[in-house]
Amino acid sequence: MFDKILIANRGEIALRVLRACKEMNIATVAVHSQVDRDLKHVRLADESVCIGPNPSPQSYLNIPAIISAMEITDSVAVHPGYGFLAENADFAEQVQKSGFTFIGPDADVIRLMGDKVSAIAAMKKAGVPTVPGSDGPLPANGERCLEIARRIGYPVIIKAAAGGGGRGMRVVHTEAALLNAISVTKSEALAAFGDDTVYMEKFLQNPRHVEIQVMSDGQGNAIHLGDRDCSLQRRHQKVLEEAPAPGIPDEVRKQVLESCVQACVDIGYRGAGTFEFLYEDERFYFIEMNTRIQVEHPVTEMVTGVDLIREQIRVCAGEKLSLKQEDIVIQGHSFECRINAEDPKTFFPSPGRVNNFHTPGGLGVRVDSHLYSGYTVPANYDSMIAKLITHGEDRETALARMRVALSELVVDGIRTNIPLQESLVRDEAFARGGINIHYLEKKLGL
Ligand code: ADP
Repeated sequence: MFDKILIANRGEIALRVLRACKEMNIATVAVHSQVDRDLKHVRLADESVCIGPNPSPQSYLNIPAIISAMEITDSVAVHPGYGFLAENADFAEQVQKSGFTFIGPDADVIRLMGDKVSAIAAMKKAGVPTVPGSDGPLPANGERCLEIARRIGYPVIIKAAAGGGGRGMRVVHTEAALLNAISVTKSEALAAFGDDTVYMEKFLQNPRHVEIQVMSDGQGNAIHLGDRDCSLQRRHQKVLEEAPAPGIPDEVRKQVLESCVQACVDIGYRGAGTFEFLYEDERFYFIEMNTRIQVEHPVTEMVTGVDLIREQIRVCAGEKLSLKQEDIVIQGHSFECRINAEDPKTFFPSPGRVNNFHTPGGLGVRVDSHLYSGYTVPANYDSMIAKLITHGEDRETALARMRVALSELVVDGIRTNIPLQESLVRDEAFARGGINIHYLEKKLGL
C-alpha cells in the first residue's frame, strides 16, 4: 500500500479522501492555494503545502507545482478527487513519468474516454448501448451529413468530440437548419477545444439521467455497484441524486450493468468510474464515461456499504479487487442533496463567512462537508459547500429522512440553496420517482 498520498483537490472531496487515507494508515499531504490555508482537510492533514495563488490555473491546475509538492514531501501517489486535474490525461502521464502513481486509470484510457467519438466506438464494441448516430466524425461532404440525419431521424444533436461541461452541442430540428448548425458547432468547437471534430446523434426529447458506478482493478476484474438517478439538473449541473434509480425493469438494468463491466475489462480500466446514460422508454443510451470518483458517489456507498475511495486507492496501488460481483447487494435507498453557497432564486454565488454551521444527525444521515463555524467560503471556486446524504430501508424512508435532515441544517451568514432543496424533497412528481432531465428547469420556470 502507498505510504503517503498527496490530495490534489480542495473542499469536501479533499476531506473525504483524507478520511479514507487516515482509516488506511496512509500519511496525507494537503496542497492548497493561498486563500485555502484554513480548509478543514489542510488542518487535519499530516503535512500541507501552499502551491500558489488563488486562481485555480495557478494552484489546483498547476501541474509543475503539484509534482514539486509530491517531490518535496516524498508522496508516492496523488488522488485528484473530481474536477480540476481528475480527467487530465497529461497530468496523469506526467505523474507517472515522475515516478509517482496517479490514482485513476492510465493516461491513454483517460484520453480514449475524453474523446467522445473514440469513447462511443469503444463502448459499442463492448456491447454498451449507445445513441443512434453517425458512428464517427461527420464527413466534410454536406450531402452525406444530410443522409446521416435522415437515417437517424430529426431532431438530431451535433456534438463536439472534445466537448465537455455541457458545451459544444447544438440541437437541430429540421433538414433546412442542419448544414449551418454543423458549421457553427465546428467553429465553436475549434475555438473552445482546439478540435473541430463533430458527430451526430439522435436527440432524445425527455430522457432521464441514469449512471452506473464501476470499480475495476485493471487486472481483468471489474464489478458494478448499481446505478444512480441524477435527473434533477439545472444547466447540466446535478442538484439532487439518488440510488438506486427508481422504476427500472430488472432485466433492462441487468443488461446494461453487465455491459459496463464488460467494457471495463475490454479497455483495461483501473479505479472508480461512471458510465453516464440517458434513459428513455426503458432503454439506456451511453453518453459518456467519467474516469474518476464523482460528487454523488456517497449514495452508492450508502446502498452498497462499500467505501469507494478506499477501494479506488487499493486497486490503484496494484491490489486486486477485494469484492466480487455477488458481494454487491443493494440495500434500501439513498438520496444526496448538494448544498451550494448561492442565492436560492437567482443562483448567484454567495461566498462569505459562515457564522454558524449546524449539521443534522440521526440514523441514516451523513454529511460530507468541509464547513465549520467561522469558515469563510472563498469566491474563487465551485460553490458546493456540503452534501447531505440520507439512507433508509426504502425510498419513502430515505426521502422522509432527507426532509427532516434539511430542516435541521443551519448555514448561517451566507445564502444557500437549502430552500430549493426543501421544495424538491416535497415535490409530488419527484416523490413518485422517474422525473426527466427537464423537470427542474421547467419547475423553476426557465
Ligand atoms: P458533457 O461532456 O458536456 O457533459 P454530455 O455528452 O454528457 O456532454 O451531454 C451533456 C448533456 O446534454 C446530457 O446530460 C443531456 O442533458 C444532453 N444531451 C447530450 N446528448 C443528448 C442526446 N443525444 N439527446 C438528448 N440530450 C442529450
